[in-house]
Amino acid sequence: MSHEPSLPDSPPANRELGIASRPPSVDALARSIEDVELPHPMLVDAARAAIAAGEPDSARDRALAASAALLRPVINATGVLLHTNLGRAPIGVHHDPGYSNLELDLSTGHRGSRQDHAATLIARACGAEKALIVNNGAAALMLVLAALAVGRRVAVSRGELVEIGGGFRIPEVLAGSGAELVEVGTTNRTRISDYDAALDGDVAIILKVHQSNYRIVGFTESTPVGALVALGVPVVFDIGSGLLDAATPWLPEGPPAWLAGEPAARQALEQGAALVTFSGDKLLGGPQAGVVAGRRDLVEACARHPLYRALRPGGLVLGSMQETALAYLRRDGLAIPFWRMATTPVATLRNRASALGIGEVVDCASVPGGGSIPGLEIPSAGVALDGDVRMELRRARVPVIARVSTGRTVLDLRTVSPTEDGLLASALGVALAGAGR
Ligand SMILES: *Cc1c(COP(=O)(O)O)cnc(C)c1O
Repeated sequence: MSHEPSLPDSPPANRELGIASRPPSVDALARSIEDVELPHPMLVDAARAAIAAGEPDSARDRALAASAALLRPVINATGVLLHTNLGRAPIGVHHDPGYSNLELDLSTGHRGSRQDHAATLIARACGAEKALIVNNGAAALMLVLAALAVGRRVAVSRGELVEIGGGFRIPEVLAGSGAELVEVGTTNRTRISDYDAALDGDVAIILKVHQSNYRIVGFTESTPVGALVALGVPVVFDIGSGLLDAATPWLPEGPPAWLAGEPAARQALEQGAALVTFSGDKLLGGPQAGVVAGRRDLVEACARHPLYRALRPGGLVLGSMQETALAYLRRDGLAIPFWRMATTPVATLRNRASALGIGEVVDCASVPGGGSIPGLEIPSAGVALDGDVRMELRRARVPVIARVSTGRTVLDLRTVSPTEDGLLASALGVALAGAGR
């Protein structure tokens, strides 16, 4: 089903040519669906596939499906703030076409480094001597291991040999980088004495990995960074989410309750971690990127490694990271969409929900998501509709992504920008009409 008018039974191309019995030419069929806004070659593909399937009438629906598969803005009403399928942190990139001083030092006119802008600000914002920005968190850790531990040993607690998702498994990342894993302790308890016993002259780094998407509860023990540092081997902490500072100075109200226990870059470095690595698009609230931050000599070793050249981001990502970092340094958390959404008072969301004028206003619970902070919820509000209208909502002009709970479609307003409320209301109206209610 589509909201476009459907084709007459026999495609116009056929009727024009006056040959009802023979299949239409690919080109004529492609031209007959030109109102679907796609470049001609994609219409040709849809026409060809339709003819090959013996269903020329399906060409338009095939073209519409190809159009729906393109990258586009969507409204996230799932309440999952960092939704992996929806690009994790919400970001906006607005700038005019043009050049930038990506690798030009404007004060000297000589060649500069693309790491002089955003990375310098990120380092400043988390108290690191230096930082390096790469394409994602996995790349950051991979680069650190390749640059600092290739052909050597890396000690990791058995409780931290985790899979983060999307096939990112710590033992495999280690193997892929050319470092050798030394497993330390047990799944639920790893003591300082376990690390001490595992160390020999060939252990290049102790790697600590935030368990991110799961929790071991009960009879557990892990060794904090501060204690590991005393063993005299550089400690690298993959904190994952990119919380820059546990004190959240960019939030006027201080750290929200749901942030409890999430490791932060500034505190890990203060406790003596030589390096931290993290993602740009989780709790940092920026674009997809990865950060290596900490000791200058080690960050520079990462930047000199040949792998860095394959992992370096472009100007779009660095520009967006710079904007994010500037907001942190201004202590302006509300300028970062993730933090603005995460900290909106429930009363505000409830008012917006009733202003939509459709569905029943309900209390619900958002989650940080993105593998950050499992099990913790943020009280929220939104609207609920009877039945499952997710498919209708996905077909809206700006697709709306919702979830279903106990037979009702729930739209959580925490992850919807107030500027999207109008679009959301009209999508809800269309969806209800489409579902015949
Ligand atoms: C998310 C995460 C990663 C992977 O980061 P990407 O940006 O998704 O590549 C690595 N380590 C930890 C601890 C994480 O939480």
